[in-house]
Amino acid sequence: MYLDNAATTKIHPEVLKVMHNAPFANYNAKYYEEAEDAKKTINNAIKTMAELLCVDYKNLVITSGATESNNFIIKGFYQNYPKAHFITSKREHKSVLAVFEYLESIGADVSYIDTLDEVITFKHIKPLIKGNTKLVSIMSVNNETGIINDVEVIAQELQRLGIKFHTDAVQALGKVKLDYRLFDYVSFSSHKIYGPKGIGLAVVDREIQPLIHGSDQQHGYRAGTLANELIVGFAKAFELALGDIAKNLIKYQQQREIITRFLTDNLGEDLIINFNENNVFNIISIQIKGEMNQTFLKENHEVIKASTGSSCSVTAPSYVLKDHGFSDEAIRQTIRISLSIYDEYDMEIS
Ligand code: PLP
Repeated sequence: MYLDNAATTKIHPEVLKVMHNAPFANYNAKYYEEAEDAKKTINNAIKTMAELLCVDYKNLVITSGATESNNFIIKGFYQNYPKAHFITSKREHKSVLAVFEYLESIGADVSYIDTLDEVITFKHIKPLIKGNTKLVSIMSVNNETGIINDVEVIAQELQRLGIKFHTDAVQALGKVKLDYRLFDYVSFSSHKIYGPKGIGLAVVDREIQPLIHGSDQQHGYRAGTLANELIVGFAKAFELALGDIAKNLIKYQQQREIITRFLTDNLGEDLIINFNENNVFNIISIQIKGEMNQTFLKENHEVIKASTGSSCSVTAPSYVLKDHGFSDEAIRQTIRISLSIYDEYDMEIS
């Protein structure tokens, strides 16, 4: 069973089909109809994503993935406001944390939320705000724990104070209903929603500096030839994720019930489910008492293909779980299971 869908998903067959039929011509070319066709198709794909997010399509910038979107947004903002104060948490994905660490190394002022509470709310941000705080970055859903942070309320409170808000919504897209109109900056990735790898999206307000300079594609916000096949595939994946999100959430909930029942039946008292409230259905963080996660996963790789936590930091112990106050032993026993709505988990339920 492949249970590592928070790391990456299989491409959905409908996504592959539209990628296969994508127009090949250069979006920016002129004078021949293949180029016109490509332009129309790409514009429609980007507009589809904007409509599903309920945001202005002019605010969407196609990137190579969420790592680039996070770098683009945070560095692009810092370049405009190098004297500003920033707030984030220690539970962010590496592609946010490492950017802030880098910015600190060149003089940025960054504060980190310090709490053992599971969910990050405005209460944790408020005491850190200073007169020059200009950007707060908090992920919508954590990739290891599945915890949903209180990002809609955070965004509204910050807007009242004139502070911009960025959320890394990679693990939220299609897994929890969010009003994306509330956020100034958002990062998304295609390969977490059954789309192709190598493409992501940044929702921006045009007040930031570009990360990648070159020709004037995407209004000068991100240079480089547009990847027709990846863009149409990503847009189809967006439709599958958000087109009928209510139905998808029911499916994810059913999958979670099947898997947790299977784990409980097989592991009994040895099973601890780390977070079972305030989280998305598709991520289950578990501990197996007395079992080292790496050994367990290696020995059982034919049955369960999962990971010890974030796929990006396989060697280091999870800094996210540490920030939640977990002991080293508990971290070493923790496994992240992440589900797909397109797989059938036909296990016996006793
Ligand atoms: N942010 C979160 C929360 C993630 O889970 C990931 C992927 O693991 C990323 C960002 C990076 O996404 P990408 O692989 O598209 O660069």
